[in-house]
Amino acid sequence: MGGNKKVYIKTYGCQMNQNDSERMLGMLGELGYQQQDQPYDADLIIVNTCSIRERAEDKLFSKLGELRDIKALKPEMVIGVAGCVAQNMGERIRKRAPYVDMVFGTENIHHLPQLLNQVTETREPVVSVVPFTDELPPDMPVLRQGKHSAWITAIYGCNDRCTYCIVPSVRGDQKSRPIDDLVKEAERVVAEGFVEVVLLGQNINGYGKDLEPRVGLGDLIDAVARIPGVKRVRWLTGHPRDLDEALLQKMSAHENVCDHFHIPIQAGANDVLRQMARGYTREKYMAKVELIRRYYPDAGITTDLIVGFPGETEEQFQETIEVVREVRFTGVNTAAYSARPGTYAAKREDQVPEDVKDRRLVELNQVVNEVAMQVSRAMVGSVQEILVEGPSSKDPSVFQGRTKNNRIVFFPGEAAMEGQLIQVRITDARPWTLRGEALAAVPSV
Ligand code: SAM
Ligand code: SF4
Repeated sequence: MGGNKKVYIKTYGCQMNQNDSERMLGMLGELGYQQQDQPYDADLIIVNTCSIRERAEDKLFSKLGELRDIKALKPEMVIGVAGCVAQNMGERIRKRAPYVDMVFGTENIHHLPQLLNQVTETREPVVSVVPFTDELPPDMPVLRQGKHSAWITAIYGCNDRCTYCIVPSVRGDQKSRPIDDLVKEAERVVAEGFVEVVLLGQNINGYGKDLEPRVGLGDLIDAVARIPGVKRVRWLTGHPRDLDEALLQKMSAHENVCDHFHIPIQAGANDVLRQMARGYTREKYMAKVELIRRYYPDAGITTDLIVGFPGETEEQFQETIEVVREVRFTGVNTAAYSARPGTYAAKREDQVPEDVKDRRLVELNQVVNEVAMQVSRAMVGSVQEILVEGPSSKDPSVFQGRTKNNRIVFFPGEAAMEGQLIQVRITDARPWTLRGEALAAVPSV
């Protein structure tokens, strides 16, 4: 057992991965491991990996290079690699980095305590990557890294097969957790003092399609929003194809459900969207945006965009730029297309040259910033309800909070405001953040 041992965990990638790390820390906590924020004197180091783009994978091996030097000074240290790259590469990770002691995939995180025990007892490396099954993983303790906001994974895996994406092969098919389980977890987090619940899934709009009886995301949100003490409910990531009016009806029935919609469009040109197998056109996407704004005129709509998908022409790229101006996104994750092994798009011969992708990315980012600045400026003078997250990292007298539509606001605040919903007036704008001043505190829901 761990006694008072120390664990350092480095997490790459999306909120799902971060939530997986919270589960690993939860299990390790029960074994007596304390979390460290530096690797140097840790007894156990885990790198929880992301394989969404080649660069994300490269980060693993450069991190492992650093860790090799630390392990050279402390040979009894255990190094583990988990997550999407582990699921994909398995044994091949140890071929490139033989000093790694433990490799385990996304499907068997709950085996971590046994695997660790095996490594520490035998001092032999262990690689354990299991095939995907229909079974949900067992409940695991969770050491949450947020202070007021708790992530809850509602769906594991993804049933889509977007032609550029490696996720289904490293996370398996969609498995929704039953509403009752999720409500119990949400009740637990409220009892622990969290006030915001964020429901996670790769395509959270597909929630419940695989359950019997079939339910929808709206049903889940409805159940979670009713839990006493839940001041806010959020969800991500949305899939534009599956977002429907039934969801908006259920959401808008609750004051504590936030009007933030992360609905990645990926590209603006219909031909590209078809080749990506996204299941919607630009026009259908715009109809979803309109639908959202009918229910929530000030909704925060954020997206992901890929430039340089194979065969993407300059004209098609310009359609992506047009969409950014048309929707007026409040946040955008942009990326150059990265060929992922085993995907259809990676096999195409019409790959876009790297320098063209780079140039398109720079141009897109400029427009994204320009639009974000316009959207932020339009909020100056408005009064927003924010959930206060805590002091900013740079100045302890400046606090940070988030509007319902997911805009970050900095304002002069005090410790008593943390975890509270308060009203602020927006006084100044940056592209991605706002400045404000606190008005009166609002009563909690
Ligand atoms: N499930 C979500 C969806 O369908 O939009 C997001 C999943 S993925 C973890 C997050 C983002 O990574 C995607 O929205 C996409 O923009 C980006 N991405 C996925 N595969 C990519 C690739 N091969 N190259 C570049 N970006 C990619
Ligand atoms: Fe990947 Fe598409 Fe699934 Fe998102 S919906 S995880 S982009 S396959």
